Amino acid sequence: MTNKVNIFWFRRDLRLDDNIGFFSALKDDLPVLPIFIYDQDILEKLPKDDARICFIYDTLQHIRKDLQDNQGSSIACFIGKPLEIFKNLIKDYHIEKVYTNHDYEPYARNRDEQIEKLLTDHAIKFKTYKDQVIFEKNEIVKSDGNPYVVYTPYKNKWKEQFNASTLKIHDTRIHINNLFKSSDLPNPSFSDLGFKKSSIRVQDYVITPMLIDNYEDTRNFPAIENGTSGLGPHLRFGTVSIRKMIKKAISEKNEVFWSELIWREFFMQILWHFPHTKDRAFRPKYDRIEWRNNEKEFEAWKNGKTGYPLVDAGMRQLNKTGYMHNRVRMLVASFLCKHLLIDWRWGEAYFAEKLLDYDMSANVGNWQWAAGSGVDAAPYFRIFNPTTQVTKFDKKLEYINTWVQDINELTYPQPIVDHKIARERCLRIYKEAVAE
Ligand code: FAD
Repeated sequence: MTNKVNIFWFRRDLRLDDNIGFFSALKDDLPVLPIFIYDQDILEKLPKDDARICFIYDTLQHIRKDLQDNQGSSIACFIGKPLEIFKNLIKDYHIEKVYTNHDYEPYARNRDEQIEKLLTDHAIKFKTYKDQVIFEKNEIVKSDGNPYVVYTPYKNKWKEQFNASTLKIHDTRIHINNLFKSSDLPNPSFSDLGFKKSSIRVQDYVITPMLIDNYEDTRNFPAIENGTSGLGPHLRFGTVSIRKMIKKAISEKNEVFWSELIWREFFMQILWHFPHTKDRAFRPKYDRIEWRNNEKEFEAWKNGKTGYPLVDAGMRQLNKTGYMHNRVRMLVASFLCKHLLIDWRWGEAYFAEKLLDYDMSANVGNWQWAAGSGVDAAPYFRIFNPTTQVTKFDKKLEYINTWVQDINELTYPQPIVDHKIARERCLRIYKEAVAE
């Protein structure tokens, strides 16, 4: 058994700087042993060439190298079930405290409860911190204490409560000497994880003053390169700090960009307060919709073969790159639920498998928005027209031509449904379901 240590457990906060839990651990007296667990329960459910696992692996290798080269330290990485890994750590180290950052998803909340119980049974403190958001849990609620379920009043309260001058960046370098010194900590190889490398890569984000200044004009047009920030996966895995991003957004004074970051926190607090929405409609009567769930049509949608070029372009972009522009996400989601009457949960699950920036709260929130079943949702009778969406957002067909190169070939499918007929069918089925 070694001398006493504290542990810092990395999860969705894969960076050394301005990481509040890590900073707090380093500030404490005992040497800090950083760890990461490749959670078998999560790995088992993923495709064997999942690009997100590559991204996590590569990011951890960078962290490891940085700690080895600059601190004579390292990070211990394990594969397994977190509870079992902690049981072993308790045997191998004399642990006083375990530090980590909050994770708000239902699975993570349950996991953390079990870990906390195990640690408490061994007289080890479990210290957790808010890191991935500016406001969490009950910090932004109505005056009667209830959560907001409409975005605009939530955003107003968020801004009212936000004080830029108290937004602190945590410089971990000040205390970085307090790491546990050993450069020989467990580091499974990529193949030990049971995965193979993907050809899909997480791209760097762009957050220049120009992007933020022009964001309002560029963000709706999928053909514009770098018209949005590409921050999605970086915020998801914590390779950037939300506080630094918010500081940038404020300093450039672009309200629209700032508002997008608030949407992220809005959906996070919705999932926190209403965890059942991960697979049930927020408005229960929408669970009565008689979805058609035609498997062949679902396949056509997934493969970008619906015969509606903008829908197909979006799905092909997703399949090839792990990313789809937000405008097009809105359209393909609406098309699946409304034109094809396929359960939003099918689409949500497909996005969860494919999106590099997949985040349960944003994905569920936006899918329920598109299906009309969620908080602050689009009314069900508002149905995107997949043809006029092209005129509005891809007039010169640049995005479509990039992703649907067979558009003029005989093999390109005819529209899978007639817009007018599908629209009327959707209105009828939804109306029947939501009638009292
Ligand atoms: P930017 O436009 O540069 O926005 C910056 C950041 O703001 C984003 O990275 C994201 O963190 C946040 N943001 C922007 N729009 C939204 C939004 N509508 N809801 C929540 N946060 C937002 N976003 C995810 O992060 N994960 C998902 O799993 C996800 N699934 C979606 C599913 C559907 C059906 C739809 C319509 C949208 C979904 N979004 C999701 C929201 C949005 O499409 C992405 O956040 C955005 O396209 C990511 O690209 P970006 O980082 O360049 O965005």
